[in-house]
Amino acid sequence: MDIIVLKKTVTEDELNKIVDKLAKKGLKANISKGTERTIIGVIGDTSKITEEESDSVKAMNGVESLMRIIKPYKLASREIVKENTVINIRGQLIGGNQIALIAGPCAVENKKILLEIAHEVHKAGANFLRGGAFKPRTSPYSFQGLGKEGLEILAEAREQTGMPIVTELMDSKDLDLLVQYSDVIQIGARNMQNFRLLLDVGEVDKPILLKRGISATIEEWLMAAEYIMSKGNHKVILCERGIRTYERATRNTLDLSAVPILKQLTHLPIIVDPSHAVGRWDLVSPMARAAVAAGADGIMIEVHTHPSEAMSDGEQSLKPKVFSQLIQELKPIAKAIGREI
Ligand code: PEP
Ligand code: MN
Repeated sequence: MDIIVLKKTVTEDELNKIVDKLAKKGLKANISKGTERTIIGVIGDTSKITEEESDSVKAMNGVESLMRIIKPYKLASREIVKENTVINIRGQLIGGNQIALIAGPCAVENKKILLEIAHEVHKAGANFLRGGAFKPRTSPYSFQGLGKEGLEILAEAREQTGMPIVTELMDSKDLDLLVQYSDVIQIGARNMQNFRLLLDVGEVDKPILLKRGISATIEEWLMAAEYIMSKGNHKVILCERGIRTYERATRNTLDLSAVPILKQLTHLPIIVDPSHAVGRWDLVSPMARAAVAAGADGIMIEVHTHPSEAMSDGEQSLKPKVFSQLIQELKPIAKAIGREI
């Protein structure tokens, strides 16, 4: 038994009795109230539950059925939640019919440039603003981000444009700040298996954009999502950003097949970041078009008004004009597969 499916008519009292019974066996209940029905994800070592114990749970009032989930990830699995998870962020939906367009610079560099970029991407049609205030840089001598000041600048851009903010968290000590300023908390590729960080963001009520680890398998990535969900935060957005392969023509190799594979395996939304995948601005638009055609729920693109002067990732950043053109190109592709931009 990994999942307890409850009857539509289940009462609060019946639910509490089931949770108590699990607690007596040292198991925790993760209650997920869906639109159709409520399910309990049983957390802990369920392999020790005997058949008799399992039957006694099945006989309890309010229980419809018990399910054994074969996959190691449970709450993230499509086996549990059949319908797509749709996340509402200040009125913008991710995971529904509309394709999310997240754009902005790699890092928040200063107020003037960030506001300039924010207005440009907004005008082009972006519905989320990205920008790092805490940057995971390969070298400790590279620009590390503006920290709190960067978050304040992002908040001002949100005020001026209305676009919700996506920004990265690198350390749990900054979580309160991120909760205060951001709308979506990004967990970067390098931290995909920072389990302490995953558990901590699992405790907050904010959507989490979970990037795929540099050499993570799809299953490891879904297990990382499971860490977050196991703590009660089910608002996880997966982001494919390329994986490390032997190929050096691009910064990473964009694994586009991850999109349709994940659509089968999980109910969570999946977006694609072609910028970090290819590492070259001239390849970003073709791969963004391919990502939408493959069924991605959104794309995340690095845009800069002066890429040659950018403090990080200038070589993969689109100028606003190219970004605007890309959005126009994406529209008929989205329409062809029954989606909207
Ligand atoms: C980023 O989005 O700026 C970033 C650092 O991405 P990744 O973690 O995918 O390298
Ligand atoms: Mn970047």
